[in-house]
Amino acid sequence: MKILFILFLVLFQAQINAAEVNIYSARKEALIKPILDEFTKETGINVNLVTGKADTLLKRLEVEGKNTPADILLTVDVARLVRAKEKGLFQVIDSAVLEQTIPEYYRDDENLWFGLSLRSRVIVYAPDRVKAEELTSYEDLADSKWKDSICIRSSSNVYNQSLVASMIAHSGLEKTEAWATALVNNFARSPKGGDRDQIKAVAVGVCDVAIVNNYYLAGMLVSSQDEQVTLAKKIKLFWPNQNAEGAHMNVSGAGILKPAKNKKEAIQLLEYLVSDKAQQWYAEANHEYSINSDIANSKILKSWGKFKADKLNLSLLGKYNADAVLLMDRAGWK
Ligand code: FE
Repeated sequence: MKILFILFLVLFQAQINAAEVNIYSARKEALIKPILDEFTKETGINVNLVTGKADTLLKRLEVEGKNTPADILLTVDVARLVRAKEKGLFQVIDSAVLEQTIPEYYRDDENLWFGLSLRSRVIVYAPDRVKAEELTSYEDLADSKWKDSICIRSSSNVYNQSLVASMIAHSGLEKTEAWATALVNNFARSPKGGDRDQIKAVAVGVCDVAIVNNYYLAGMLVSSQDEQVTLAKKIKLFWPNQNAEGAHMNVSGAGILKPAKNKKEAIQLLEYLVSDKAQQWYAEANHEYSINSDIANSKILKSWGKFKADKLNLSLLGKYNADAVLLMDRAGWK
């Protein structure tokens, strides 16, 4: 009888274990939890979410080693996904759904990480001081005609590191360094604050042009705070490099950790996150583009029109991250 009871407990425990998946997420809870709840509702699989800063989570995973309770690491910016891969944290995932849905330049070539949503780093400008015809590309912002007119956050920000890494991939170190040095010369102020602060600075006239991720502008436009909306309405978005390789793209993405105890459920969750329903949700909730861009996006994304996206293999942004950091430092980019 006792043995039967123990057997029952073991089976019961296995049942519980089988029906959960554990995520370490560098995405804010509000930007992921609702769609995870939807996944649980549809599949019965519970999702346990731990949120934190990307670098803190990476460190935690290294310390926990094979004892980590986490199955999935979810983070923003491909440089961090590549970092996790290089630390040997991820395992190879074999999923036809992920391979068919996500273009190969938005996932790891060894299937260790996968892009789940898309964002672009765009130019924003004050239309009362700058005409759209004056803008062309990231490269052009280094022209002396933009002296004292550009706002951008610091070089410690990973989005900027990835933008610079993409330029290294496209035009080489030397050209990119000359560009960064000239760009720094055009800064209206020493870099400070986040992307929303750059938008604000353009709106109030501290600078005329800024480089920011598209969803920050969208977030301000739909903000519940009137001040944010008023500021955001004063500026416009410009799609850079449309006559060249296209606007710089980046992803939020995830990989399944080597010690994952719930691999099957973890794969199921990643596949769910690239489903039409989840992709539509990313657009509505955070104004990100669908990873395969076939789906109707949010009203604001639609208002910005169609654009040419850079199809650079995003692994290169990780590959050139260290070069980008050193280069920006040499260029005097604070
Ligand atoms: Fe962000």
